[in-house]
Amino acid sequence: MTLLPSEKALVPFVSVDHMMQLIHHIGLPTMLREMADYIHADFLRWDSFDKTPRVASHSPVGVIELMPTSDGEAYGFKYVNGHPKNTAEGLQTVTAFGLLADVATGYPVLLTEMTLLTALRTAATSAMVARELAPNNAKVMAMIGNGAQSEFQTLAMQELVGIQEVRLFDTDPQATAKCAKNLERTGLTITPCNTPEDAIQGAQILTTCTADKRNATILRGNMVGAGVHINAIGGDCPGKTEIAADILHRSDIFVEFPPQTRIEGDIQQLADDHPVTEIWKVLTGGDSGRTSADQITLFDSVGFAIEDFSALRYIRDKIVGTPYSTPLDMLADPDDPRDLFGMLHRAKP
Ligand code: NAD
Repeated sequence: MTLLPSEKALVPFVSVDHMMQLIHHIGLPTMLREMADYIHADFLRWDSFDKTPRVASHSPVGVIELMPTSDGEAYGFKYVNGHPKNTAEGLQTVTAFGLLADVATGYPVLLTEMTLLTALRTAATSAMVARELAPNNAKVMAMIGNGAQSEFQTLAMQELVGIQEVRLFDTDPQATAKCAKNLERTGLTITPCNTPEDAIQGAQILTTCTADKRNATILRGNMVGAGVHINAIGGDCPGKTEIAADILHRSDIFVEFPPQTRIEGDIQQLADDHPVTEIWKVLTGGDSGRTSADQITLFDSVGFAIEDFSALRYIRDKIVGTPYSTPLDMLADPDDPRDLFGMLHRAKP
């Protein structure tokens, strides 16, 4: 998209309010399915992207990260934080915003909230991966950690994988009650549980989505038997893991981008050369996914920039012709491109 010099470039901005309206307009299940299709399409052309582990700035209480990528035509980045202690102060653990730009001009073409969008893209990615790796006919999911991501994770698994029951556990019973209430009238059987052991009873998919900046052990070795798929979401930062190392050793591990996951994922507990499979290679058919009913498959999700790029592309396409964005005056447009100083005269009192 090249702009003529005389065109005033206004950048569409999708606020949190507009994102909520867009989600209702499209419908959450449809949006999760369509976003998974966008992510799937971008994973199939993995080689066309610039890839780098995200740039992280750590503090004792959290992390702030920038996640850039480009496919040569568009460039995207997300700003995202992770502060597990925030909820106790009435703040989100994760907030985000992001930008998509035109590589040909360098001009931004979209600025958007990405807190909701991160929950959607994380859930869409989890379900897209579970569709490949979960045992055939998986109908029951354990959802351990019932915070901000949990309903999105559950609904994506319902839409893409076809789960019929979710078994909820959180150390905070109020989080479980909130999640159970939000999932009412979705057609799912909702089973709140008092222990993680109870939550995983009869489940073929085990999702861990807790927030705690330490090496936690949400799943211990004796809790996990053969023939399950583990969707490990919350271990996504150095020193922040969820899965006991002996489970990792018994699992076939699938990751997004190994150089990032080895720093941030649950596999930070393993040797640097421990074998992992890149999920994009399973999607293209180059590598195997689940090969036996007894296998434990584990998706060590940390969230990768290409998923955000796909989500940004999706929103850029979906807002066209809708009222769900505001044009932002965020680009200078002097009459003579070299006379930036002269442009100041326009605003003279
Ligand atoms: P949140 O703070 O809203 O919810 C986390 C929940 O985990 C809370 O309800 C808390 O009570 C619960 N919890 C903490 N310790 C627990 C334990 N030992 N057992 C059971 N429950 C426990 O956070 P969120 O926004 O839902 O995010 C959850 C996690 O997912 C965070 O760690 C976040 O960094 C991560 N995340 C990962 C991705 C990704 O792409 N992989 C994307 C978004 C968020």
